[in-house]
Amino acid sequence: MRPELLNPLFVPVTTIPGIGPKMDKLLRFLLNRDETPRIADLLLHLPVSVIDRRARPKIRDAEIGKMVTLEVTVDRHRPAPAGRARAPHLVYASDDTGDVVITYFRAYPGQVEKILPVGEKRFVSGTTQLFDGVLQITHPDRVIDEEGFAKLSGIDPVYPLTQGLAIGALRKAVGLALTKLPELPEWISPEVLRRCSFPSLSEALHRVHVPNEMTDVLPEGPFWSRLAFDELLAGQLALALVRAQVRRPAGDRNAGDGHLRHKIIDALPYALTKSQQEASAAIAEDLTKPMRMLRLLQGDVGSGKTVVALLAAAAVAEVGKQTALMAPTEILARQHIKTITPLAERAGMRVAILTGREKGRERKDILARLAAGEIDMLVGTHALIQDDVIYKSLALAVVDEQHRFGVRERLTLTNKGSAVDVLVLSATPIPRTLVLTYFGDMDVSELREKPAGRQPIETRTMSSSRLKEVIDGVGRQIAAGKLVYWIVPLVEESEMDGPKLTNAEERFDSLQQLFGDKVGLVHGRMRGADKDAAMARFAAGETQVLVATTVVEVGVDVPAATIMIIENAERFGLSQLHQLRGRIGRGSEASNCLLMFREPLGEIAAKRLKVIKDTTDGFRIAEEDLKLRGEGDVLGTRQSGMPGFRIARPEVHAQLVTQARDEALRILQDDPKLKGERGEALRCLLYLYERDEALPLIGAG
Ligand code: ADP
Ligand code: MG
Repeated sequence: MRPELLNPLFVPVTTIPGIGPKMDKLLRFLLNRDETPRIADLLLHLPVSVIDRRARPKIRDAEIGKMVTLEVTVDRHRPAPAGRARAPHLVYASDDTGDVVITYFRAYPGQVEKILPVGEKRFVSGTTQLFDGVLQITHPDRVIDEEGFAKLSGIDPVYPLTQGLAIGALRKAVGLALTKLPELPEWISPEVLRRCSFPSLSEALHRVHVPNEMTDVLPEGPFWSRLAFDELLAGQLALALVRAQVRRPAGDRNAGDGHLRHKIIDALPYALTKSQQEASAAIAEDLTKPMRMLRLLQGDVGSGKTVVALLAAAAVAEVGKQTALMAPTEILARQHIKTITPLAERAGMRVAILTGREKGRERKDILARLAAGEIDMLVGTHALIQDDVIYKSLALAVVDEQHRFGVRERLTLTNKGSAVDVLVLSATPIPRTLVLTYFGDMDVSELREKPAGRQPIETRTMSSSRLKEVIDGVGRQIAAGKLVYWIVPLVEESEMDGPKLTNAEERFDSLQQLFGDKVGLVHGRMRGADKDAAMARFAAGETQVLVATTVVEVGVDVPAATIMIIENAERFGLSQLHQLRGRIGRGSEASNCLLMFREPLGEIAAKRLKVIKDTTDGFRIAEEDLKLRGEGDVLGTRQSGMPGFRIARPEVHAQLVTQARDEALRILQDDPKLKGERGEALRCLLYLYERDEALPLIGAG
């Protein structure tokens, strides 16, 4: 239950005078909400900069091209002559040092006379120009009388906006939202408040939205930092609550004697790499500890994470318990089951798949076997966490490409067993700060080496104007029996009015006209069964060119494919390109990747393609990506900042992440159920930042 104290912040913004349906729509878009934003959302939308109107020179001293505020007396008006609507309305004004002309275009008759009455004193803010030797301000930002001016600090916040939303309207709405802010109890400990010199929440919010100084809105300043700390603390606390939840009952072990693992290793057609062995050993040890496992297995694409996950599942099966492996897409889930099944069978492990596609009887049968403990490892998608999926003894949850899932999904899965161990697989080399931010305190295993025998990938770039040559080349590759991925970017409908991009179906049609049934197609809007069939035909070499969108980005494994062509490569993120390219170079033959780009290519875009061309080291690519685009994008999202975070910025607040983690751990040591007075305050914090999903775990306060 949400503390009542917070109610005023959880009412829709449309309760604020001046916010009607139109602004509601704009704010939803701006604040990225499906529903009408709440007052709290408005308050947590922070300004990116300020406009300083304090420069208040005399007219004689006003610098040209600068934002100034002039204190003037209005002398006379010269409205646009009748019938010449395009001529400006001029206002002549002065102070004791000179004259200034204030200009309005397309003014309504009488409008300007009203804001600048002759003979009166006004404060006029705007950017100065020199026109015919006379100082001029065109369309001032603000014209205020003396009384109004006395109320202003002279510094106005500038917010991120969206088309159609006026800054003035937003400022006004935020100003009114601030008046709704209740007095909330302090949730940060006195030590941290002192050490970090944080202001109170109320002061922080007031100062960023109504700045007194230019520096008040800086992300590294005390006000913003306080808010960032709150947000990070909420995140860390939620993660820590989840983590602290389950200690295994004494004597309960989730790993057995190794008999199944040995059988699998014996059945492998290759030897495990050293880092695969180390990761498996670390996992096996975690599985026998009294604390729940929470481990991240990081490894570049093709580094062999699946078999490590399978060995973990085998360890769990050795003591008769179950594993769930959740993948973000159906293709990936099917890929996993394909790799896993033959190996698991050799060890006598029973595996099954459950996705949106298994329906009716088939699904019922799987669920029955799962509940009876006749399935050791269930692989699937979100379908694994539906309410009616009941495990007899779920002990290990493996989550592939975790950052696509939220804490909520992970919780739903782990709640289907008791003291469930968690193994997260990620192909994105995530910087330490981000691991902490997103996953909390996790142990990390890295697969640094590539399996032996991998051939290098040669990467080239080419303008799309040479498409014809490329298509001819593909014809020769088909004749030589090669398998080719042909990747086109996903086109979202909102982007349709932009430059025309190649669409998967169009490219498929044009290639099919040339190469007939040698060409296959797979994209996200196809039905699951059709996707699989297309993948299977390609894997079997029946089709030799697979036109695909990024659905093949993660995990898909067709070792015989050695060529990849990526159209509009400049449209992809670096890690995405790296992931895509990781689909080739998996077999014993040398591979080639061709990045086609549309001209003109911007400077940054050119640099980014060069990074991909020059290296196949995922960690280096992630670093360069960071430099070129900022940290949020390393996770493959398009928003700026950290996805899921509105205020904290990784490049500025990295220090605060560890402090927030430490604070969260101290809190749970002192008051694991958040029962005390401070506990109540912290519950407010969790609700405010929508991190309350873990609260039901510890019950009401
Ligand atoms: P990823 O880490 O990208 O998920 P996979 O687990 O899909 O990688 O493995 C990629 C390919 O490498 C698979 O075909 C797998 O069978 C193979 N592989 C895994 N480990 C080794 C190894 N130690 N030696 C050789 N091939 C391996
Ligand atoms: Mg994989």
